[in-house]
Amino acid sequence: IRSEAIKLEKMEVVSQLAASISHEIRNPLTVVKGFMQLMKAKDISEEAKEQYMNIALEELNRACAIIDDYLTFAKPFPEKIEPLHVQQELEKVIHMLRPLANMHGVQIVATLTPATVIGNAQYFRQCFLNIIKNGIEAMENGGALYVDVHVDEKAATIVVRDEGEGMTKEQLARFGEPYFSTKEKGTGLGAMVSIRIIEMMNGTWNIKSEKGRGTTITVSFPLLLEK
Ligand code: ADP
Ligand code: MG
Repeated sequence: IRSEAIKLEKMEVVSQLAASISHEIRNPLTVVKGFMQLMKAKDISEEAKEQYMNIALEELNRACAIIDDYLTFAKPFPEKIEPLHVQQELEKVIHMLRPLANMHGVQIVATLTPATVIGNAQYFRQCFLNIIKNGIEAMENGGALYVDVHVDEKAATIVVRDEGEGMTKEQLARFGEPYFSTKEKGTGLGAMVSIRIIEMMNGTWNIKSEKGRGTTITVSFPLLLEK
């Protein structure tokens, strides 16, 4: 019964996510289409062409950023709900983000421990990709980003802490709101996707942030208790 409930809930989330992705990506593509059509006009100046081209490229970059926030790990076969290994999955995400961390002069310090929870590994990775990426991006001048896992009798808790720019109270209140972004080229979708995934996996989350000091995001998932 429990697994049936999870399946139903999951299908809803999947179709909701799919619907929002197509919506999100259609907007920039429509803009690109418009400018391509303009560029076909015969009497168009080189200058205007250059300008249209730049706008089109910007919009394509935006479409890519949206796909990164939703679908980095998407695979062309149906997702499964299954036991997933928190440590292994986090290691994959951290491995993937090392180049970005290096670019920002950020050191990722991971203290991981094995834990098994139930959920979908792709979504789990997407969730932490978005959270850790935000942590890295918050550290303009480098620093350390900590990823810890704690396990007790009931839950696996993942703590992601950065020493970055932090958020004001107002920003904190808007964390996870669609399109809320303080970044020049931000989508404002990454945090929302992470939160949806946590909730879909029956997890809980909490965020603490202080302007100028850093941010800590704590996420807990019920342990899969093997019998
Ligand atoms: P994006 O990264 O595209 O801006 P997100 O939804 O991932 O969109 O994040 C929304 C906003 O939340 C960010 O623009 C930033 O202002 C804030 N934020 C999220 N994570 C952090 C963090 N670790 N430190 C500081 N601000 C953060
Ligand atoms: Mg982000």
